[in-house]
Amino acid sequence: MANEFPFEISPMFEGERVRKDDMFVELGGPKSRGFELVKAAAMDEIEDGGFKLIGPDISKMEEGSRHPFAMIYRVAGKLIEPDIEAIVERRNHDFQNYIQGFMHLNQRYDVWIRISKDAIKKGLNSFEQVAKATMMLFKNELNFIEKIDATFITDPDEVERLRGDAIKTYEARDARTRGLHDEDVDVFYGCTLCQSFAPTNACVITPDRISLCGAINWFDGRAAAKVDPEGPQFAIPKGEVIDAIGGEYSGVNEKAASLSGGEYTRIKIHSFFDSPHTSCGCFEVVGFYIPEVDGIGWVDRDFTGIAPNGLAFSTMAGQTGGGKQVVGFLGVGVNYFRSPKFIQADGGWNRVVWMPKNLKEKIKADIPPELVDKVLTEENVTDLKSLKESLEKSQHPIVQRWVKEEEVPEEAHVEASGTAMSGSGWSIPSMQMPAGIPMMPMQFSGGGEGVKLSFKNAKISIERIVFKNKEK
Ligand code: SF4
Repeated sequence: MANEFPFEISPMFEGERVRKDDMFVELGGPKSRGFELVKAAAMDEIEDGGFKLIGPDISKMEEGSRHPFAMIYRVAGKLIEPDIEAIVERRNHDFQNYIQGFMHLNQRYDVWIRISKDAIKKGLNSFEQVAKATMMLFKNELNFIEKIDATFITDPDEVERLRGDAIKTYEARDARTRGLHDEDVDVFYGCTLCQSFAPTNACVITPDRISLCGAINWFDGRAAAKVDPEGPQFAIPKGEVIDAIGGEYSGVNEKAASLSGGEYTRIKIHSFFDSPHTSCGCFEVVGFYIPEVDGIGWVDRDFTGIAPNGLAFSTMAGQTGGGKQVVGFLGVGVNYFRSPKFIQADGGWNRVVWMPKNLKEKIKADIPPELVDKVLTEENVTDLKSLKESLEKSQHPIVQRWVKEEEVPEEAHVEASGTAMSGSGWSIPSMQMPAGIPMMPMQFSGGGEGVKLSFKNAKISIERIVFKNKEK
């Protein structure tokens, strides 16, 4: 099959990354606009294999340039109905990554593509080649697709115009789960698509928790399992409820153990700290624990700045991904903020202290009204000191979790050297520091004064201590 195309096509290219220096052109991504969309159509509407390009082709693009980009596929077949659109759409990511020299990241309105210089040298010079290869893979791998056509768009105005319609489609898909909750169903759905790069990851998709890539909701999982029972999405019978608040079910635990090869045996769907959901790398948003205020911040892919803990999205995403349960970080889909069970095991919205302004705007209607002004953004605070001060000033509910220093018995104080946030009358909150939280570099202001750490009811285990002479 590869002879038809000037590039190789194989799942072995899935993990291939096109770095900036090796890139011929960038499409969509954080510095431009893009989207991908699959729509169900009637058989007689589609000319199988048809392709249309609106805007300049690859051969007309300059090396190193960046362009808006949209991909719209229409699919038809006896088993095809609108419920299946999201599942087919998600596979665009896999199939395009099979193309050597073509890197596809993210999903929906976040797609980010790079084509390598090597691929161009080998003869990739038209989007038609990419579209034909992708459509061939769609039909080979998803045999319920009987006909498919594709429209790719690089014209900036057209991408912008149609992106609005695409977003309405995504919203309509997600809105279907609003009236349905975990307790209303006996079956959840799982997805292993991302195990190709995160082998122990197993997404659990429930009515109250959309997939962390944000592309597959419970209805999508159900439709996929029905139409393609041997495919990567499958039913997970819930089994017994073990923890209704945390969202722990015997059926999910059994599946988690088998899918992770025994690496983990428990998943609490609505918990941030205790047996959290695994995070592969496709998450739309990363949640990060901020021990200095005992709160949780969230940062999305579009945010290019630095969060109050001194870290960028990319640094925290690197820490979070890989298919592990990383206590202290959690990948989620944007729609999970709209869930009535949103991290309910850990206080829900009362625990949220910070998120980028644009993300907050997106989900503002779903933040409890009394907290809207108390969840801070980069416009209010820039570091941990100002975060703590603003939370205290606004009397964010998190403040109730803090312990005034004078309430901590003197013998519980531990003196240490280094830099950290210190403030009069305030100490690290009274929570048990969740086990397993990885050490991350933090940004502090007002360093050089030493630090006083207060631990209460804390267990500290140290694997190794190295003593060194102090250099003079
Ligand atoms: S993030 Fe989860 S639901 Fe989305 S494609 Fe990957 S495994 Fe599937």
